[in-house]
Amino acid sequence: MLRVAIIGAGPSGLACALELQRLGIKPVIFERYHRIGLPVERVDILMHLAWRPVKDQLAYLTRCCHLPVTSLGPLRTIVMHSHSHRSVIQARCLGYFVHRGRSPLSLENQLAARLTVPFILQTIADPLALAREFDWVVAATGDSKPARQLGLWQEFSNVAIRGATVLGQFDPHTSHMFWDTRYAGHGYGLLTPFDRGRACMLLAVGDIQSREMDDYWELFLESEKLHYPIVETHDQEFHCGRATRHQLGNILLVGNSGGFVSSLLGLGLFSGMISGVLAARAIAGKGDYERLIAPLIRRINELNELRFRLDRLDNHDLDRLVWALGMPGIKHLVYHSGLDVIPFVHGLISRLNKLPFTLKSPHPRRHQKKQG
Ligand SMILES: Cc1cc2nc3c(=O)[nH]c(=O)nc-3n(C[C@H](O)[C@H](O)[C@H](O)COP(=O)(O)OP(=O)(O)OC[C@H]3O[C@@H](n4cnc5c(N)ncnc54)[C@H](O)[C@@H]3O)c2cc1C
Repeated sequence: MLRVAIIGAGPSGLACALELQRLGIKPVIFERYHRIGLPVERVDILMHLAWRPVKDQLAYLTRCCHLPVTSLGPLRTIVMHSHSHRSVIQARCLGYFVHRGRSPLSLENQLAARLTVPFILQTIADPLALAREFDWVVAATGDSKPARQLGLWQEFSNVAIRGATVLGQFDPHTSHMFWDTRYAGHGYGLLTPFDRGRACMLLAVGDIQSREMDDYWELFLESEKLHYPIVETHDQEFHCGRATRHQLGNILLVGNSGGFVSSLLGLGLFSGMISGVLAARAIAGKGDYERLIAPLIRRINELNELRFRLDRLDNHDLDRLVWALGMPGIKHLVYHSGLDVIPFVHGLISRLNKLPFTLKSPHPRRHQKKQG
């Protein structure tokens, strides 16, 4: 029997464990915390647009990866706010809200509940040490440490993130995205609901010192009038980058550890879980890992390229972009056609200054239901 160690009980490591279990291999999972799930509760979005031609990511995970996952609900409305403009995009299902954290309903706990393999909790594992003991080691630590340790990490940027849980009245199917270089630089702000009474607020700003975050955060809340009671806040750093290789000897890098997260909005949940499943298949002798993940890497590179283009836009350009993405024809193509529109959005960005843009907003700048 193959001896496989998985480091990290996040979505990517657990997806890998489930696929190994399905293929008749029982891995051991090492997790540094005493419980499964992010210590801080959060809502992540599975955004359909990013991973087309996959039309529905939950359906794909169930059908092609044997990973049935329950979401908090569908994402039906995205409200995009730029400095002076606002666009509303609506569809039956633009994606899903997924619960992260330690509740039994969190993604991590849903996956863990289906496993019958041993967990070694409260243990910080080292890939190189385990590589001597096990036939295979899957590094799924959610950070770039294993890739750095192996000399395989190429850094793009260091993003400071502040998250908060807030109380108020929210539409459980609506997410707000905020693009304004004054408080986000070339990052973004996000408001995503847990339910009607609680939401998760986030500000991600690239290449600033963590201690500068207070000023950016205050400006974000003030500019967008996000005056909700805050239950808790937390800060973290996220290293955006890529792994130059994803396998070294018997060590495989999956999820964030393998750079399976696009710097465009930090979307990495879907690709991270897929990389975990593909690592399991490679371990079970069903293909070469680098080959199996090649389409995923191509897609991430395209999304990263889009990010680099967005980085060059100022607030006026972002106003134009948000306006254009809300135009009926473009909106239909981007959100409703089901086509892979990332190349189109690339083209749109390079033609921004040719658009007949007017600053007259079709909607008032509001992002919450009236407080009761
Ligand atoms: C604030 C924020 C918001 C995000 N929002 C979205 C979103 O809306 N949509 C989306 O698609 N993606 C989003 N992402 C990215 C997404 O969350 C990640 O891509 C996803 O969590 C990757 O899963 P993972 O299993 O690779 O890592 P993680 O979820 O980070 O899990 C890693 C696990 O490994 C454990 N661990 C770490 N080191 C060790 C060690 N040495 N030994 C043992 N255990 C260890 C950790 O405790 C953790 O349990 C967001 C990321 C951040 C930071």
